[in-house]
Amino acid sequence: MKTACATLALTLIAMPTLAQNVRITPIGSHPGELCANDRATVFEDPSGVRILYDVAQNLTGPDDPRVGDVDVVLLSHMHGDHLGNLRLRAVGAGTCANSGREPVPHAMTAEVVIEKEAVLVTTRAQAGFVANEVREIRGESLPICDSPVTATVPVDAACRSSMDLGGRFVATAAGADQGVEINIVFASHVNNAPNSLLSEAQRELLDANGAVLELGPPTGYVIRFTNGLTAYLSGDTGIHSEMRTIVNEYHNANLAVLNLGNNPGIYYSAAHAMNELVQPASVIITHPNEAATENGEPRPQSHTARIIEEIDAPTHLALNGRTMEFDGRGRCVSGC
Ligand SMILES: [Zn+2]
Repeated sequence: MKTACATLALTLIAMPTLAQNVRITPIGSHPGELCANDRATVFEDPSGVRILYDVAQNLTGPDDPRVGDVDVVLLSHMHGDHLGNLRLRAVGAGTCANSGREPVPHAMTAEVVIEKEAVLVTTRAQAGFVANEVREIRGESLPICDSPVTATVPVDAACRSSMDLGGRFVATAAGADQGVEINIVFASHVNNAPNSLLSEAQRELLDANGAVLELGPPTGYVIRFTNGLTAYLSGDTGIHSEMRTIVNEYHNANLAVLNLGNNPGIYYSAAHAMNELVQPASVIITHPNEAATENGEPRPQSHTARIIEEIDAPTHLALNGRTMEFDGRGRCVSGC
């Protein structure tokens, strides 16, 4: 019996840890709340790969201590509130309805990729714009990684993916046998770069026609983590049919991180999009474009409170600084 126990103990020691969760930490303006301008989110895979989804206007600078190490930076689309044409003046600056932000000379996404020596995973058109911003900051562009669609992280020097809508990038932690799969999926939105970050010549040209500069399609992501969690990051989007065909039927997403926002209309279509199309096991709500909470609770008259009622799956608010842990089946097991 003693020997059997010893053998069992040795076997348990040799086995990889079974209870492995993905840690998800929103980075916003006001601690413990979900505020109007909140978007940035850090995902940490059990293998150690750390992903920052949309630098947004939520960081105080590229070295914001709340962010920690970052292996991969995602950029869903070119709007200033995602690319980062403003930085947060200080944690808690301004109000929850309108956080205190100030302009930066170069896209915060570029600054963060340099600071963290990270891989930028986004479409070629968007990566090209950020690479140019990197060149303006440090005099040297952001190169394409050794492989355009895979990397062992952390990488030795900052680099960018070379892929497009429908593409898959695999980021594998050094020494791990399995990588994190990052798929670029469709979003129904507009994708113009902020005017403040364009050259004078480009601005004049666009103004002559009342036009905007679009850099390819806006996107969302589906990330398959090594524990099986498959997270759909909607990006800013209206309701669209690929939520069912690609996100649900092809990728089998079991968690949705849903950007509400105003313009894409998800305030009104979120329930159908989640309940009928994506059908995830859980939903995280972010990008509310309203002060969604007070003392960490949904404000009763908010769009956010109504949407929580309408969505069938357990719905969690992306409260700034609160780490939620998700298992491979898309269920929140801690911090929700
Ligand atoms: Zn947005």
